[in-house]
Amino acid sequence: MFLNIQPLPNEHVFSWFVRGYFRSGSASFTNFQKQINLSAKKLYANQVFGSHFEAIFKLLGNRQKLISNHTTALLWQVSVGKLAMANSPALDSFEHMNEQQFFGYDTSWHACQSCIEEDIERFGTSYWHASHQYPSVFTCYKHLKPLVIAKEPVKNIYSELLPHNVAAWEYVVPEVKQELEDWQSYLKEVINLCHNNPELITQIKPQIVKYFNVSKLKSKEQKLYCERLNIEFEQAIGNQLLQYLFRDYGRENLRGKTNVFSILFFSQYKSNGVRNPIYWLVVAYWLKITKQLDVLS
Ligand SMILES: [Zn+2]
Repeated sequence: MFLNIQPLPNEHVFSWFVRGYFRSGSASFTNFQKQINLSAKKLYANQVFGSHFEAIFKLLGNRQKLISNHTTALLWQVSVGKLAMANSPALDSFEHMNEQQFFGYDTSWHACQSCIEEDIERFGTSYWHASHQYPSVFTCYKHLKPLVIAKEPVKNIYSELLPHNVAAWEYVVPEVKQELEDWQSYLKEVINLCHNNPELITQIKPQIVKYFNVSKLKSKEQKLYCERLNIEFEQAIGNQLLQYLFRDYGRENLRGKTNVFSILFFSQYKSNGVRNPIYWLVVAYWLKITKQLDVLS
């Protein structure tokens, strides 16, 4: 039964999965999953690498189309440095790469009120769009209107929620200043390239590593170098964007202040290292606005 339901345009695979369950008439989501041999309990908007992704793709058998149009996985090509479209490596081999807790922006499921209305009119149901879930995105790719999140945060749609089940919404960013607008435009440019020129996307990380060439320095100098870079970076990026992107900057005492450069250059090869693309992209963005170095060109 599940296999007969196609994902709607740009529908996130998890949303499609929840709708599949609604249509199945199964007594519970757990029962439904048992019938199709799945056990996917973490249906988070910001999750990309999990064994259940591959299992869900196998159900439909059109992995490439699902990855590019129905997940946010293409953006992770930035930090993985490989094409996510390729069959190998499977997405679950990067499972440990889901750093979510370090960011200031909201990681619950995002929606657009115009999309909800249109989808109900056109398809008789609302659904969660994949493109609304890209990390730190706060405007709709289609209507360019501000995205909303549920007042009672919807983190996991294992609770069987679609947008039309949400009682009250609020804006992801209540007051958008220029700093955030500019970041949003940059991110949208990157997301478009993820679809149109993925080879270029996989070059962002090696280009940044090469540009700073930290490994040439002695270890003592590396630390000082990263500290100096971070001061320059903070001044150029501005407070509103820093607070929006990184949780540390939103804290009053700046406890455990983020140093993006130490994180990138010294943790990237560790198994618990940081690979969320936002770290690489914010440095790429900084290089563009202050050093006239555009790694996207
Ligand atoms: Zn929309």
